[in-house]
Amino acid sequence: MASPTYSCRAIVLRKTRLKESDLIVTLLSDTGAQRRAVAKGARKPTSQFASRLELFCEVDLLCSEGRGLDIVKEARIVRARESVRCSLEHGMAAAPMAELLERTTQPSLEEPRLFQASSVAFAALEEASRSGAPAIAAAHLLKTLAFSGLRPALEGCVVCGGPAQEQARGMMRFSFHEGGLVCSRCVRQAETVPVSAATIGWARFFLSSPFATILQEKAPLGGTFSVLRLVQGLVREHVGARLRSLELLFSCGLFGDDVE
Ligand SMILES: [Zn+2]
Repeated sequence: MASPTYSCRAIVLRKTRLKESDLIVTLLSDTGAQRRAVAKGARKPTSQFASRLELFCEVDLLCSEGRGLDIVKEARIVRARESVRCSLEHGMAAAPMAELLERTTQPSLEEPRLFQASSVAFAALEEASRSGAPAIAAAHLLKTLAFSGLRPALEGCVVCGGPAQEQARGMMRFSFHEGGLVCSRCVRQAETVPVSAATIGWARFFLSSPFATILQEKAPLGGTFSVLRLVQGLVREHVGARLRSLELLFSCGLFGDDVE
């Protein structure tokens, strides 16, 4: 009996080699659920899949359900995202976006808004300048955390819900473990680190603004990278992993000295 087939729109998050010429693609489907499928012969240059299953691509797929992994039968490019892959800076910014999606999505967990937000984010990345690319990544990473139920508390104290005020020298107390700001009354109850009020301001902006606004605002790289470090701490604490591609973004040297 033929296996049941299904069609879906998806973003390619990861490509893993399988055997001599096959590929496993990890996908964010338009339902927001993660799917993994085998594209047979995809690494042969003559394969129809070779140019259609590139990283960060948005594709329409026809798949058949397999016992373990599904099988890709047909693939059609909807958005190639070529400019993201062809620029080092844009590719560096896109990689942690895909990595966090891969780590937080699950086959059985649907969240269509996550797909829509990610599609818009990769489109915004195509529009961004080289130095503006990390801001799109920072915004998408924060929004992905929020869609995954890990929205950081940036408005009030994460422990008591009261106001979390700026302290001496423009610093605020932030707890990675609790997942947000901590007020001066609760600071003894949580392990906190100092984070500048300016960084918190940029994180609020990235979390709450549409990508079109973020493209226009041109956030400074220093502020953007401070937010990215905040994200890395939250991911380590709540997703249980370091995003290797984010570490690479910190150490790549492409964005100059003002990111330290
Ligand atoms: Zn408090």
